[in-house]
Amino acid sequence: MKLNHPRLWAWVAAPLATLILNACNSDDDDPQTPVVPPVQRAAGVVVAAPVLSASDAAGNQTINIKVLTAAGLKTIASPAVSSGNAAKISATLVPGNLVDWESDTAADTAKVAGADPAKTFQVILSKGTAGLTQFNLAKYGWSVNRLGDTPGAMVAAGWIYAKTGTSITVGDGGMVLADQAGRAFDKPVKRYEETYTLASDVKVYNVNTADYAQSAESTLAALPVTADYSYATTSRQAAYLLFDQNYLNADKAKVVAIWYFTPQARSDGKPVWDVPTQSPLLADKGTDPVSGLAYVSINATTPTNAAYSRSTEPFEMVKGTMYYVGDNEVASYILKADMGTPNDPSDDKVIKIDAGWPNSGYQYWKNMELLGIDPRSVTDLWLTHGHADHYGTVVEQLRMMDNAGKTMKLWASREDAQAITADLQGNTWNIPGALPLSETEIRARTSDFYQYDKWYDFGNVQIMVIWSPGHTPGSTNMVFKVKNPTDGKFYTFGYHGGYGFNGMEQPTASNGWKRLAWQAGFSYLQQSQDIDFVSPQHTNHFPIVEVFQALKAYNRDPANAAAPLTMFDAMRSRVYDAPQINGASITTEFSNQLEKRRSVVSYRATDSSGAGRKSLETSGPFKPGRENGLTVQVTALDDGKIIQGFVGPQNKNPRIPLLANGIPTTLDAYVNDPTGYYVQVTLDVLENTYKGYLPDGYVQLSPGLGTTLTYQGGPVESVIATKGTLHPPEYLRTQRLASLEDAQKVLASIRKGGTFTVTLTPASEIAVPVDVTQTFR
Ligand SMILES: [Zn+2]
Repeated sequence: MKLNHPRLWAWVAAPLATLILNACNSDDDDPQTPVVPPVQRAAGVVVAAPVLSASDAAGNQTINIKVLTAAGLKTIASPAVSSGNAAKISATLVPGNLVDWESDTAADTAKVAGADPAKTFQVILSKGTAGLTQFNLAKYGWSVNRLGDTPGAMVAAGWIYAKTGTSITVGDGGMVLADQAGRAFDKPVKRYEETYTLASDVKVYNVNTADYAQSAESTLAALPVTADYSYATTSRQAAYLLFDQNYLNADKAKVVAIWYFTPQARSDGKPVWDVPTQSPLLADKGTDPVSGLAYVSINATTPTNAAYSRSTEPFEMVKGTMYYVGDNEVASYILKADMGTPNDPSDDKVIKIDAGWPNSGYQYWKNMELLGIDPRSVTDLWLTHGHADHYGTVVEQLRMMDNAGKTMKLWASREDAQAITADLQGNTWNIPGALPLSETEIRARTSDFYQYDKWYDFGNVQIMVIWSPGHTPGSTNMVFKVKNPTDGKFYTFGYHGGYGFNGMEQPTASNGWKRLAWQAGFSYLQQSQDIDFVSPQHTNHFPIVEVFQALKAYNRDPANAAAPLTMFDAMRSRVYDAPQINGASITTEFSNQLEKRRSVVSYRATDSSGAGRKSLETSGPFKPGRENGLTVQVTALDDGKIIQGFVGPQNKNPRIPLLANGIPTTLDAYVNDPTGYYVQVTLDVLENTYKGYLPDGYVQLSPGLGTTLTYQGGPVESVIATKGTLHPPEYLRTQRLASLEDAQKVLASIRKGGTFTVTLTPASEIAVPVDVTQTFR
């Protein structure tokens, strides 16, 4: 098997070669030594609906399926199973599914799976009649299921880009010609394109997805090849491939069956970039001759429909420890933890943060391979919340591990995997989590639920998980402390795990508590966490991929060859243009990133940003007892902090030309307010009506909507473990101050432990009188 990066392949494959030697004593240096395919489950593509026999006296039925296999067209019969299991088995045997089964001793029969008869046939890939194209790397991802101790044979999927009499080239068609500064690569980057060796007796089938009855054996000569790599060429030849070997013998594997699908895929036709779709870094790229649109204006197809349009390369963030392995839309990070014993790798952990979009797994596995990390080496997978763009490859990863006989811990929030049954203040709730009921495998295989507000200590890597409902009931944030081996110091990275405001644009009976909790979560993170760098969840929240691509372009400039920079040089900790106090910029990039969305839910000014937008200020919900505002005593639990209004261009870094003006992302651009300031402080509000949550059935007028709502209750500040005197602390802030000077005056009037009188607005903002020094009295 040949890959398009022969040097990298040799590097990654080196430990594998040793494994092969140990496993079967074959002479790896002798290409003539035949590798005997291991006994494994058979596989084939279903081309007709399953046929069930009449029930026998015991009520059992036999299932017959027509499959195109490496041994020809077969009708495979199952043993007699109960009619209930027959129905379950039949449900997996949809035409277009690539399925596997264990052959029985009698010809063309399948053995019933003992533990779970419904798993007699297992689905590997599903073509169906959908135009959706699937991609799968031979070595990673989906494969034939394991038989006993033996991993199943490799499977690949993609578009066919070349064939010879002895080889076939498959990929996703993604091609990047130049770096972000416009300097051409010596060879175009094709992130997923692999060339495989064909068995001399390879079976080739044409599967007709418009009319499966027309599917038939074909020939290598007739096998169509995609015309070219132009993104405008939408007629592309999709295929599934089956090998004779499992991943342990990847370099000896030969393709024994090819199923190519007609009619051809006709999707996408949009340009592919390393940076996110509509990135400001595309502004100098001109106009697309195909669509006539400026490249910067073209919105790439969604990742689930055209995964390749969102691929990007992986990068190192902390030497040997922290990596970005996601795509150019959604993040996924790898943390390599030494467990406090740097010289003993036996206990090391490879922690993967979030699992990206479904149908995109091949990109993430490829990115990990490029960094020298086998995706099967992941020991722990941590999920932030129950949305498909973050759990999308969990089942694929679990199956890959199963096939290899490896285990992996799967971590999730109990609140999204199951339900909110209690908050950390002991109040009880019954609020369902966001993970869909259909995700039974993820739910069943979640091994660990997070404990919140405590550090998990993995030696050179430490993680704290903070629950902040809003985006979903169980959304979590993570703070990573990562030791930089270069200087031996720990640096913190902030990962906000629930940034999306979808569905919360105006108060409803069911989302009211989430709007309050969402705002509280942002303020809590700003106030309580000291964060060095942002590790965003999506690239339109913070431009981490653009930062790397700008860095890469800088390092590829021959003028900089002698002094290349690292991500540590490229990432900004402090907002470059934020004003300074005592020589330090007052705003961190993380606080600024949080401010973007804290503003969206909070302020009257955002009501004009879109139809149906209703801020907490104008429309509530208001914390119980504050509907008409409230003058009240408060005890300050910290010294307060100045929060600058959102500064639009993020990660401005004049050392790197492409970052000289920062990267302004379009998401929430309207909250840009660098000349506004707030003083935010942790307060014990000395009244007993509001207890840190919205009670069930609370009735309140929404002035902005002009209607009264009966709110479903839910936790707000009560998701934080810290106990207040009367209730959990609140993280409140003043109304907008028009100058840094005014903010400094207000800040100077606050001292930790002091008790003050303040006036709260209905939205629990601290009112600022004309004499700002009288805000805290
Ligand atoms: Zn989400």
